[in-house]
Amino acid sequence: MPSLYRVAEYWMPRYEAIFPNLYAHYIGWGEPFCFRCSWLAPVDDTQGSLAAVWRSAGGWLERAHLHDWALGGSNEPENLVPLCRQCHDIMPEFSCRQAAISYVAEGVRKNCWWQLYTDGTFGASAGFPNPPFKAKLLRDAYVRFVEVERLVGAATNGDESAVMRVRHLIGDPSWPALPSRGASVQSESQTP
Ligand SMILES: [Zn+2]
Repeated sequence: MPSLYRVAEYWMPRYEAIFPNLYAHYIGWGEPFCFRCSWLAPVDDTQGSLAAVWRSAGGWLERAHLHDWALGGSNEPENLVPLCRQCHDIMPEFSCRQAAISYVAEGVRKNCWWQLYTDGTFGASAGFPNPPFKAKLLRDAYVRFVEVERLVGAATNGDESAVMRVRHLIGDPSWPALPSRGASVQSESQTP
């Protein structure tokens, strides 16, 4: 199997014809990203070379086969794309490279909270620059992230027990801190 960087290198001069809306079109290749959802791997992007930056994204990003390997696809770079754990997990097994390209190209953009969460938890500035078992860490983190998102959604919709759990999780007994009704009435009453 070619390295993640070798796969990225293959696509650098070719992506526009095949993945015209790839994130590289907007941000270049200095930050390793998932070809499907554009999630940025939480790596130190100030390393000396592009190769080192992409190498350190191994584990955060996986080499996904377009034409599935078990269905006869090759291990050549043209048949591989960098995908994050979540996108790779749900990718169907394609017997045709073109169908897989459509799947990747039509992917939805990452949730920006997920990006912030993973940067904050695993990013270089979190003092967690190159942890082992990244794929497992990422999957566990995603499960927690989705659970918290559901909980906050339920709390926002008025589920009292969810509100209590969010308050406990974030250690803020006054959550959600809504603007005080009294203050707004007062400012309205001051308007001539
Ligand atoms: Zn992805």
